Amino acid sequence: METQVQPKSPLIEPKRKILIVEDEKDIRDLVRYNLEIEGFSVVEASDGELGLTLAARERPALIILDLMLPGLPGLEVCRLLRAREETLRLPILILTARASEVDKVLGLEMGADDYVTKPFSPRELVARVKAVLRRAYGPVLDRPHEVYEKGRLRIDYDTYEVTLAGQPITLGLREFELLKFFLQYPQRVFSRSQILDLVWGQDVYVEPRTVDVHIRRLRQRIERDDANPTMILTVRGVGYKCNPDALAE
Ligand code: CA
Repeated sequence: METQVQPKSPLIEPKRKILIVEDEKDIRDLVRYNLEIEGFSVVEASDGELGLTLAARERPALIILDLMLPGLPGLEVCRLLRAREETLRLPILILTARASEVDKVLGLEMGADDYVTKPFSPRELVARVKAVLRRAYGPVLDRPHEVYEKGRLRIDYDTYEVTLAGQPITLGLREFELLKFFLQYPQRVFSRSQILDLVWGQDVYVEPRTVDVHIRRLRQRIERDDANPTMILTVRGVGYKCNPDALAE
């Protein structure tokens, strides 16, 4: 049995743009990373003013809003979003380090749809985002449950569960992404820098050798003999390619 990953429906694309307003770059990166894995596109603002501008201009499906912002405070951003015609109904997910009930109530009274307190689990945040979107736009937003199945390998892209010949295997997030990426382009050769651009993202600076490290880890998990790989193949002088046919063996 073979199930290919479903291409994302163009119908739901416009509903998958998320704006994050957060002054801490590390948190923006973390949120972006986790949302992008789930097929969302992310627009970032480092302060409230820019957040308001982008909320009107980019037409996001949802805004993740930090409360402690330089300049315009998050709650004021929230109030202004609700006061303006074009963002009146924009779902707002509050992100805050201040866990006090006061903030929660205030945020919700100001028109926020939900809140997540820092430190947060990225997975929980993504789950909350999906729940708010579902409430706001209905179940049309749900992607089909994405499962890849071929030969010995089964990957559930929603739960991150990977099994090889029925045995669960644990992959690091980067290895998981690498595997997902390779399986989308069977037999296609990618250079290290292409892999970095497509899996790590263009605005991240890492050594091309980093790819080798993660390929090695991935092979240790999925190859029968990682010294003689049959699935993730080295193409000498160029880079790597994936041979999913090896899974059937
Ligand atoms: Ca902050």
